[in-house]
Amino acid sequence: AEDVRRVSGLIREVADFPQAGVLFRDLSPLLADAEGFRVVVDAMALHAAEGTDVVVGIESRGFLLGAAVAHKLGLGVVGVRKPGKLPAVAHRVDYDLEYGTAALELPEGTLAPGARALVVDDVLATGGTVEAACALVEYVGAEVSVVSVVMELAALNGRDRLAGRKVRSLLTV
Ligand code: IMP
Repeated sequence: AEDVRRVSGLIREVADFPQAGVLFRDLSPLLADAEGFRVVVDAMALHAAEGTDVVVGIESRGFLLGAAVAHKLGLGVVGVRKPGKLPAVAHRVDYDLEYGTAALELPEGTLAPGARALVVDDVLATGGTVEAACALVEYVGAEVSVVSVVMELAALNGRDRLAGRKVRSLLTV
């Protein structure tokens, strides 16, 4: 926890992105820093504890983190993707964003029924994105062992949308 606090200063706050009134937390400098990346990946890997068979990373920053966490745990990694990228789709979930809609797709042939998945993303905001990823995992009969994020924006109550799943965040603001 102390390690995480030390590197959290590498997260940049950007006002009015992607739209006016939003304070965007930019994790790019944290991930670009060797110590920052190591501390974050190591801490997220601890979220898996026992009972995780595979890591699911959410496009795009969840890919960077998820792949590293999976490698550290000696597990495989699955990328859930924005629409139109995958040649074979097991399932698609459409969901609402604060403004507009989005969708995520699970690649075919990646999650066996009963597999326990650690779902990884950078930021938990309203929770719509992580909820969609969890729904994809559960649709194919796999289960969510834990949701792991670097940063949780508590005021947006994303955790409330994820009822029934274990949610772990390294930093809460
Ligand atoms: P949601 O509202 O929890 O669904 O967040 C939507 C998506 O935008 C997620 O993939 C988040 O990682 C990303 N996101 C939302 N707010 C921020 C932010 O402040 N910094 C970085 N990513 C964000």
